[in-house]
Amino acid sequence: MAFVLPDLPYGRGDLAPHISETTLEFHHGKHHQAYVNKANELLAGTSEAALPLEDAIAYARDGGKGGLYNQVGQIWNHTFFWHSLKPGGGGQPGGELGGAIDAAFGSYDGFAEKFLASAVGNFGSGWTFLVKDGNGLAVENYANAETPVRTGKSALLTIDVWEHAYYLDYQNRRPDFVKAFLDHLANWDFAAENYASA
Ligand code: MN
Repeated sequence: MAFVLPDLPYGRGDLAPHISETTLEFHHGKHHQAYVNKANELLAGTSEAALPLEDAIAYARDGGKGGLYNQVGQIWNHTFFWHSLKPGGGGQPGGELGGAIDAAFGSYDGFAEKFLASAVGNFGSGWTFLVKDGNGLAVENYANAETPVRTGKSALLTIDVWEHAYYLDYQNRRPDFVKAFLDHLANWDFAAENYASA
């Protein structure tokens, strides 16, 4: 069973002006699609071709298959990222997750400051995740296609800080992209569901 590009959970124009339709046409329609195609190419005709995505990540990582790992890690991270966004998102979450953020970072503002600094400081290409780590929350950077799937930590929310995620809309202004994520796009409903099941 080959991997398939998942549909976005909203329309390609629905995140504008914070992420443009053009960016999503390329990022979802070209970049994410390319990771799907390449993973399928690499697995075609092998006995691992039928593995579910998370098992394929484990197989690639444990088997030292770095080329495959990059593709399947990126498939998982991108799918998680699309759900980490929503039209009219952002701002301060409430509920149990809001309390956990206060406990870990002192306040929502403390979290936002840490998340912004981490995402802006994530050198090169990668991902910044809010994860549940043991009993508490943490902000962590992952390089390239690395994914918390393989760290045993529960992902709650992520931002893609590869240049292809923001260059068409923000050029080199990564901080503005991260601020737009925090203020207008972060899907705290999704993060709260992940927190409840972590
Ligand atoms: Mn990307």
